[in-house]
Amino acid sequence: MKQQYDLIIIGGGMVGASLACALLPAADQLGLSIAVVETHPLPDGPLSYTPSYDARATALAYGSRASYQQMGVWEMLSEHLTPIQHIHVSDKGRFGVTRLHAEQEQVEALGYVVENHWLGRVLLDRLHHSDAMRHVDFICPAEVTALQPQPGHMEVTLYQGEQQHQLRAELVVMADGGRSSLREQLGIHYRTERYQQHAIVTNVSPEQPHGGIAYERFTDTGPMALLPLEDQGGLHRCGLVWTVADEQLDEVLALDDDAFIRRLHERFGYRAGRFVRVGERHHYPLKLMLAEEQVRANLVVLGNAAHALHPIAGQGYNLALRGVVALAGQLITARSEGTSLGDLAMLQQFYDERVNDQQRTIGFSDYTMKLFSSHNPLLGLGRDIGLQLLEICPPAKTLFARSAMGLDSPAPDLKRKGY
Ligand SMILES: Cc1cc2nc3c(=O)[nH]c(=O)nc-3n(C[C@H](O)[C@H](O)[C@H](O)COP(=O)(O)OP(=O)(O)OC[C@H]3O[C@@H](n4cnc5c(N)ncnc54)[C@H](O)[C@@H]3O)c2cc1C
Repeated sequence: MKQQYDLIIIGGGMVGASLACALLPAADQLGLSIAVVETHPLPDGPLSYTPSYDARATALAYGSRASYQQMGVWEMLSEHLTPIQHIHVSDKGRFGVTRLHAEQEQVEALGYVVENHWLGRVLLDRLHHSDAMRHVDFICPAEVTALQPQPGHMEVTLYQGEQQHQLRAELVVMADGGRSSLREQLGIHYRTERYQQHAIVTNVSPEQPHGGIAYERFTDTGPMALLPLEDQGGLHRCGLVWTVADEQLDEVLALDDDAFIRRLHERFGYRAGRFVRVGERHHYPLKLMLAEEQVRANLVVLGNAAHALHPIAGQGYNLALRGVVALAGQLITARSEGTSLGDLAMLQQFYDERVNDQQRTIGFSDYTMKLFSSHNPLLGLGRDIGLQLLEICPPAKTLFARSAMGLDSPAPDLKRKGY
């Protein structure tokens, strides 16, 4: 194993792998050496893709497409994407409804739904091309256990099995997710707020085709989202994210499939048709987490390690992806100008340029969640009026749609940097 890299990325999840891919177009010209360290073994090698009814999925904002195009993975990714043609937002038991349509907004789709394991496979496939392997070592399974700041670089301790290795890099990017133990070691503090809610995530089959409609439904126990997915085994499929209060979680999880579907219809109604099957159920505690420090000399905290937000608006990964492309752009410029990748002033500039987008996106998710979970009748009336105003006022709807599509804070254009 090499001991020295320009950049070591801790975590080969959706964010860490995306950052390595975003740097690849410039890697040859700039002579970059990158290591991605990932704890979880790749199940059957990077190129495996086995369709599964129960695959978890992520809604990609329309604006994220440009990021994947810049990485050179869009064409492959689009082989298994489901375009969102319409978004239907409603408030259970109230009159407020609004609908967004791709055609009205003059875009090919309002967003896309991708199964996480397909996205993972596309990114890893890119990193295992021969041109990429000259620049990127994917060290896996291996775990980083310690980071030691040194003048001008970061020392990284990792274990591959029983074997300990000492690596060093100008820059270490922590893309190690929301449960990072390294951040405690480094004394990075977080703003944390528990929502006292869990998300139950599963796939369901409606009797009728989903028609490319994504539903966002607010209920008095929390919001639910239904995302269109590829059909499988002759069944139509949608991804369900159902938010329940903590105290309801065990009861809802214990329901048998028929009872679960009945309860789902009680909350969601029949606007997507009758559900005939439900898959494996997974659940996640929901909280807002924001790292108070995201850059230090030779260190960047990225993705879920930097911010975790309520999945209500499907923005967590989209926000992280904009950060990924912005960081790649900043590092490419720094390297071209002969600046160290770990230079604090340069990293601080990256962070300063990201902070508005982070605050706006996190604030929007947090505010929407609280507004739509409130039992206050006046706020309820305000929600209804807001949704109806959106419905009848096309310019306001377009502003809302642009925000949901991630178009009001586009990622920087790496091509303008000449790569
Ligand atoms: C219910 C739910 C629904 C969501 N839906 C959406 C959506 O529709 N749209 C959207 O944009 N976002 C969505 N999100 C958010 C999205 O899932 C996250 O933003 C995304 O998964 C973050 O990816 P990550 O790579 O930062 O972290 P992770 O996916 O957690 O990856 C971290 C990686 O680091 C590795 N790792 C950890 N520690 C170490 C170590 N010490 N050494 C080596 N490797 C290590 C782990 O094995 C892991 O692979 C949703 C989230 C939830 C909970």
